[in-house]
Amino acid sequence: EKVEFVQFAHHIVDRFEMNKKEGIQFKRVFPNKKIYAWMDKDKMTQVMDNIISNALKYSPEGGTITFRIIQQRNMLRFHVSDEGMGIPKDQVDKIFERFYRVDKARSRQMGGTGLGLAIAREMIEAHRGKIWAESEEGKGTTITFSLPLSEPLRGDAS
Ligand code: ATP
Ligand code: MG
Repeated sequence: EKVEFVQFAHHIVDRFEMNKKEGIQFKRVFPNKKIYAWMDKDKMTQVMDNIISNALKYSPEGGTITFRIIQQRNMLRFHVSDEGMGIPKDQVDKIFERFYRVDKARSRQMGGTGLGLAIAREMIEAHRGKIWAESEEGKGTTITFSLPLSEPLRGDAS
């Protein structure tokens, strides 16, 4: 269905913000305009929940998680940046593989199966988007996905 993405993202981030620990700050850099994309809302909720859960899981006390929405031509990008321990360069692309987890001992203690981002990638690709990670060890991680915008129908002013 056609979804206004800024509002949609606000709702999801709100839900996490209500339940987060006090020591973690949220920052939103969202545009003040409407951005429409076709999506399966349940699936996109699952994708965003996983990315945000990871950011929370790996955020240190006092850390900030920054959410950004950027429109670029006929695409939108959603970024989630944390100030956690980051991911070693040679493993950044592997985190989207099934069951891949950085540092098995650490991850086991953190809980989870290592499937979240593999599922996210499948769902984003089914929406004709892309998902990737940028990370610097000791500084933090940014997970970004892109989605195509819905074409406005001819003669439809909205
Ligand atoms: P699940 O999502 O199935 O509960 P998970 O969170 O371990 O388990 P993924 O979400 O697929 O699995 O993430 C894969 C691995 O990538 C994680 O185990 C972790 O090692 C690493 N990772 C993901 N996000 C971050 C992040 N924001 N900071 C540091 N490492 C991360
Ligand atoms: Mg996860």
